[in-house]
Amino acid sequence: MTALAGGIGGARFLRGVQAALADADVTVVGNTGDDIILHRLNISPDLDTVMYTLGGGISAERGWGREDETFTVRAELAEYGVGPAWFGLGDRDLATHLVRTQMLAAGFSLSDVTAALCQRWRPGIRLIPMSDDRVETHVVISDEAGRRAIHFQEWWLRLRAEVPAEAIVSVGAADAKPAPGVLDALAEADVVLLPPSNPVVSIGSILSVPGIRDALRETAAPVVGVSPIIGGSPVRGMADACLRAIGVETSAEAVGRHYGARRAGEGAPPARADGLLDGWLVDTVDAGVTVPGVRVTAHPLLMSDLDATVAIVRAALELAGV
Ligand code: GDP
Ligand code: CA
Repeated sequence: MTALAGGIGGARFLRGVQAALADADVTVVGNTGDDIILHRLNISPDLDTVMYTLGGGISAERGWGREDETFTVRAELAEYGVGPAWFGLGDRDLATHLVRTQMLAAGFSLSDVTAALCQRWRPGIRLIPMSDDRVETHVVISDEAGRRAIHFQEWWLRLRAEVPAEAIVSVGAADAKPAPGVLDALAEADVVLLPPSNPVVSIGSILSVPGIRDALRETAAPVVGVSPIIGGSPVRGMADACLRAIGVETSAEAVGRHYGARRAGEGAPPARADGLLDGWLVDTVDAGVTVPGVRVTAHPLLMSDLDATVAIVRAALELAGV
């Protein structure tokens, strides 16, 4: 099985995959559009969220960063007047960024670094970044300082996505290559899942790397997506602000249609040249949603605990017919 994944939503879903498919060979293509360099450190928040969640190191309360975390370094930096205060750089977490930065500086690729970090965490899946090339999501906003692009993390964490995004841009994506193994993992999979990750800044960012969308369209495996939107709102986070920026309504139906059908199905218009889905799993409150050319089924999609999440994974696999 191959899945694309962002941070918290993706990682929670993958915990269900891990539990439901203990013996399966699972590859996760992680989003690196959220990556940011702070204090000269290479930080990959979404890769780390997946790695810590599946490796048992995640903070259960926050859903990101390490359990039993302290923030002494951040407090000391603040005493010097050095920020940013909006980024939660924990002391334990810092060790991960130090290892990553040191290995990248020594010439290793981000894929190599991720594999090395996973030797400690043993997430039970193969985690690979979408690309070894640097890709950063930037957000165009207008405020008192004028119209400008800022890093996604600043928009998301400092501004809480409250300043409207005029555009969301995947900087560097056009020249990026999929990391080694990404295209093969999609081509050779028996099933491909799109977890309920943010459709714009997680899944959309992964799809912005040339070649990945085509690999999803061309794989012989069924492709099934799980809706991150339940009853017209994102369960947590501000995905609605991201969807607004790309002109997509915050609904399970609109996101399903945004991903689109992979093939011309019965009663469907001719397949789009960029559609991705064979199946779209929506919550029971969204039963009745239609996406032309895509099989839609409904199942409770709140990942409230591991059992509920395992049931969602099983429903997605059933929809995929595997
Ligand atoms: P991020 O990188 O930490 O923002 O995480 P992701 O992109 O992987 O996932 C974020 C998305 O997960 C949010 O936009 C939510 O819509 C979705 N999400 C969070 N919790 C749940 C849940 O319990 N069920 C469903 N269906 N979606 C969820
Ligand atoms: Ca993220």
